Amino acid sequence: MSSECSSVHRLANELERHKFPFEASNIPLNGIYVLFQKGEYGHQKERIVRIGTHTGESRLRLRLEEHFLNENKDRSIFRKNIGRALLSQHNDPFLKYWERNLVTKKAKDKYSSLIDFDYQKNIENQVSQYIQGNFSFATFEVKNKEERLDIESKLIATISRCDECKPSNDWLGNSSPKEKIVKSGLWQVNELYKTPFDATSIGKLERRIAHSK
Ligand SMILES: [Zn+2]
Repeated sequence: MSSECSSVHRLANELERHKFPFEASNIPLNGIYVLFQKGEYGHQKERIVRIGTHTGESRLRLRLEEHFLNENKDRSIFRKNIGRALLSQHNDPFLKYWERNLVTKKAKDKYSSLIDFDYQKNIENQVSQYIQGNFSFATFEVKNKEERLDIESKLIATISRCDECKPSNDWLGNSSPKEKIVKSGLWQVNELYKTPFDATSIGKLERRIAHSK
């Protein structure tokens, strides 16, 4: 298991790295992104702390902008989770309002009298600053949606099952109220501990990444 995780880390660390502010035209239209976080190491490399993709056609760039730029926690589960950990770290009672999903007008009408939107904007801003200052990412192209979802799932499964790459003591995710984040050392709650890469499928991934460079 750990040898596949080690291969995944080697492959991801060899890819071109993007930092904020990134040039969208250098990112493929369809593919997978891998996030790294300052201070996190695994397999003698920078440790992968999140993997993600997109379902809609040609939306990889947009997805990354939703994480790094768009100040709307309800459009990015990653932003929501960073905010949860930052609020939880300071025992901030605003956490219960941060949890509210305000995408629909109905929800907005229901909660708008309860929520201090100026404060929420302030937290969104802190989340942006934290993400922009602490995360970098690499991407690779996968045009087919089913393949994207399959590779994403296998990446998450492989890393979450590995017991060699663990978060540092200072990792922000340790403050997450989400047990799955604390336990996995990854900013995710889905696809953990599912079917990982084996020797054959990791070889295929290696050829795919080499081809996409
Ligand atoms: Zn590992």
